[in-house]
Amino acid sequence: MDVFCSVIVPMYNEEEVIEHTYTRLKQVMDCTGENYEIIFVNDGSRDRTEEIVKPISRSDPHVRLIQFSRNFGHQVAISAGMDYASGQSVVIIDADLQDPPEIILEMIDKWQEGYQVVYGRRLMRKGESVFKKVTAKLFYRVLGKLTQVDIPLDTGDFRLIDRQVCDVMKGLKEKNRFIRGLVGWAGFRQTSVEYVREERFAGVTKYPLRKMISFAADGITSFSHKPLKIASYIGVTLSLSSFVYLFVVLLQKWMELGTVPGWASIVAINLFFNGIVLMLLGVMGEYIGRIYDESKDRPLYIVREALGYHSRDNRSVESSYASEEMRDQIEGYVG
Ligand code: UDP
Ligand code: MG
Repeated sequence: MDVFCSVIVPMYNEEEVIEHTYTRLKQVMDCTGENYEIIFVNDGSRDRTEEIVKPISRSDPHVRLIQFSRNFGHQVAISAGMDYASGQSVVIIDADLQDPPEIILEMIDKWQEGYQVVYGRRLMRKGESVFKKVTAKLFYRVLGKLTQVDIPLDTGDFRLIDRQVCDVMKGLKEKNRFIRGLVGWAGFRQTSVEYVREERFAGVTKYPLRKMISFAADGITSFSHKPLKIASYIGVTLSLSSFVYLFVVLLQKWMELGTVPGWASIVAINLFFNGIVLMLLGVMGEYIGRIYDESKDRPLYIVREALGYHSRDNRSVESSYASEEMRDQIEGYVG
């Protein structure tokens, strides 16, 4: 039977919430009266997440469990879910119940009206630190200014996409993925449903500052070259102003106003310019690092185990890769 909707749930150390999440998701999806699948992607959790979800995937024929060989990151986990999803519609939802599963029903309604991307727009974010809210708001505004791609404000990855959009996403092979940008880039008929982002049901955020920064850098560098151009703008401005300064110095000399001993100013200028040069080298490094990632062309993720597929097809437990190509790549590495 055709799968009507696939729900992708990325999980990283979610032992405290995952059982509850499953129960709520199941309740909601049963309401549709259609055939659905819930794809849990275990992104290398080190806690009891696996032990909790495994029995669920055995007892509930709607549930699949994709297990990574290590932590590959949230965006990669979602991408794997898309590779494995077979639904006519695909929903992405966090494991921590910050995105209320009940909203999925509204998304499905919009999809049935003919929209191919239905994203959740956060009206309010409960229980998140002021720092997170302020930096998130700022980030989306800066991103909007830097890029031409339409990335709707105040949305996360909680969304429904149509099969056609999912197939487009699967074809985008870039390594440092910023999925909400890629979906925006793809276009199609898009709309939103509004919701209040709840507090995390339990546990703590799996996005420490370090991950937030690299996520933000992926977002900007994937969709904009402007930071690279900043280098030339600053360069031009500085060299123009240094010509002005040269003129002032020469004038002082000609008019015999006496030259300043000037050691301090030289040191200051030196530090200032070195700082700028290093900063701009860093910006270039961000891009070059990503080009390097692309050229190595390693697989996006490695699946250790895929459960819950027994009834549908005979993907074996040990070797289930998202695509033939990926299997060849990985087994090629292993030898
Ligand atoms: N997550 C993941 N891999 C990671 C980090 C997070 O799969 O390396 C999952 C996590 O389990 C959750 C979702 O991504 O389902 C969003 O993470 P979290 O709720 O911690 O982020 P926040 O809501 O605080 O931004
Ligand atoms: Mg969360």
